[in-house]
Amino acid sequence: MKILMVSSEAVPWAKTGGLADMVSALSISLANLGHDVRIVIPRYYNIDRSKLDLLPEAMGTPMGGGVQEWSAVYATDMPCNDKKNPVKVYFIDHEIFFGRDGIYGNAIETDFIDNSRRFTFFSRAAFQLCRKIKWYPDVLHAHDWPAAVAPVYLKFAERVPGARGEFKKTVSILTIHNLGYQGIYHKDNFDYAGLGWDVFYNGGFEDWSMLNMLKAGLYSADKINTVSPNYAKETMTQAHGFRLDGVLRYRNADYCGILNGIDTEVWNPSKDKYIPQTYSVKDMEGKAVAKKTLQKEFGLPQNPDVPIIGMVTRLTDQKGVGELFGPTYGSAWSICRDMDLQMILLGSGEYWCENEISGLTSRLSNFRAKIGYSEKISHLIEAGSDFFLMPSRYEPCGLNQMYSLVYGTLPIVRSTGGLVDTVQNYDEKTGDGTGFMFEQLNPSSIYNTAGWAVWAYYNRPKDIAQMQKRGMTKDFSWESSAVKYVELYEASFKAQGMKAPTGNKYDAPDISDTVLQKPKKETVKVEPVKETPKEESPKKEKAAPKKTSAAPKEKKAAADKPKTAAKPKTAAGKPKKSEPDKSKKASAPKPKKPVAKKN
Ligand code: ADP
Repeated sequence: MKILMVSSEAVPWAKTGGLADMVSALSISLANLGHDVRIVIPRYYNIDRSKLDLLPEAMGTPMGGGVQEWSAVYATDMPCNDKKNPVKVYFIDHEIFFGRDGIYGNAIETDFIDNSRRFTFFSRAAFQLCRKIKWYPDVLHAHDWPAAVAPVYLKFAERVPGARGEFKKTVSILTIHNLGYQGIYHKDNFDYAGLGWDVFYNGGFEDWSMLNMLKAGLYSADKINTVSPNYAKETMTQAHGFRLDGVLRYRNADYCGILNGIDTEVWNPSKDKYIPQTYSVKDMEGKAVAKKTLQKEFGLPQNPDVPIIGMVTRLTDQKGVGELFGPTYGSAWSICRDMDLQMILLGSGEYWCENEISGLTSRLSNFRAKIGYSEKISHLIEAGSDFFLMPSRYEPCGLNQMYSLVYGTLPIVRSTGGLVDTVQNYDEKTGDGTGFMFEQLNPSSIYNTAGWAVWAYYNRPKDIAQMQKRGMTKDFSWESSAVKYVELYEASFKAQGMKAPTGNKYDAPDISDTVLQKPKKETVKVEPVKETPKEESPKKEKAAPKKTSAAPKEKKAAADKPKTAAKPKTAAGKPKKSEPDKSKKASAPKPKKPVAKKN
């Protein structure tokens, strides 16, 4: 199959989070399966043009109001990729839209005022790129709100009677990486898209009289998915749906979750270039060396016997930092004060949180943090820690818990999103499990579960060693996820009444376990429009008001409110079927917990 990834991020060129890792890793895995995969991203200011090949002639992209946007197109091959079947990467170089510092915003303007136009143009330019290189994809795979308008163009401008027809056999997929970010802007921006105003309503843009880019993509893509099966279920509930749960329930038949993989070349303790000594499940000496190096790096006593809880995180509300570091409220202070452990953090983000963390480091002798971004230190933390803490409010997939597991570092996580799909809670009776989980997001749950993990460290070392082994032998490689994406692509053709193109070199196995509901007949009833962007009547453009792309913060689910610690419930408010007793453990204070602090 010919697959075009339309994304605002891809490593190694542009990254703000897991999206960038996923787009490149999935593309490489699909290419390894024999598919012709290409990626298109914007050429941001800090992407060095001199390392790319310039394609001849400028590219024109027709937008609304008769505007023709001119851009250059650069190309290169994905590094470290199979030279026989490389993933080609194209860069749309539009100086006014992308020749600035920042992907979506900067320190002063956190959400660029013209983001709606920047990424609507980018989505349209993806089609022009195909025309320019005379390569037409079977599958257009868009990612998150910045590319969500591409499936809308496919459905309402390119795959309609009267259109030029190059994309009439193309199907579209939209992957949600984080439903909390939707690209909501003033509707005056819509004229620029060059789609008729009927598409504003039929195409799903309309959102309380604003323009919602992600919502339009969710209405218009042939199939939609998110990055873990459990997050797919959660997003169809009011608690986690960020107001789009109704849309997702409406598209239920076309919606599924496919777990992200991890890059096992980069995140692998037996190959890791960033750690002082590699190690494996058969020889764990390197982990002890990493622990010592980590303690030294952070200026902590080099004691091999004290457990380390590590964290690598964006310091944002999504990651539960309020419950951990909120002044006078968060539990990090009491965890470090009461328990015999060391706590280490690498992260950056919200100013108040960075400040609070700096304050804690000066008041606690066993808490150390580095504010910033460092690939090297993040590897060292994964390798050298005993536990890895992720008290996420919500987590579409989460990568760090998977890294932790394969590095023999036990995750302490909240039961949400992809964390549920990847971590199994510790069972004291059997010794089973791969980590420690809690249901409610509140400071005492985090405190109690950290205490439980530390208690197990001191009192159940055999269980801890078994859990490490279990985690280290888990398969989180991209290969199996890529196969599931191919199955999803094939299901899209079926849903459109088209035959999936043949010629790919393998037979995709069944992924019925990841599809929440078997695809049934297309139920979206929208009127196709015939006009092309050029035919739009010009309208005066107004400057969009400054508006964050993030959706209004979700209301705390009733089940998320602190209740009695002894009776936790699932995020949906019901007792968890699969783990009847374990959640009790997760929130119940451990009497045997070693709380005697040495320093
Ligand atoms: P999200 O995409 O929501 O931030 P994920 O767990 O899916 O969360 O992915 C985050 C990625 O970014 C991981 O690879 C993580 O190690 C990395 N990361 C986050 N903060 C930092 C940091 N300060 N330094 C190095 N890597 C970081």
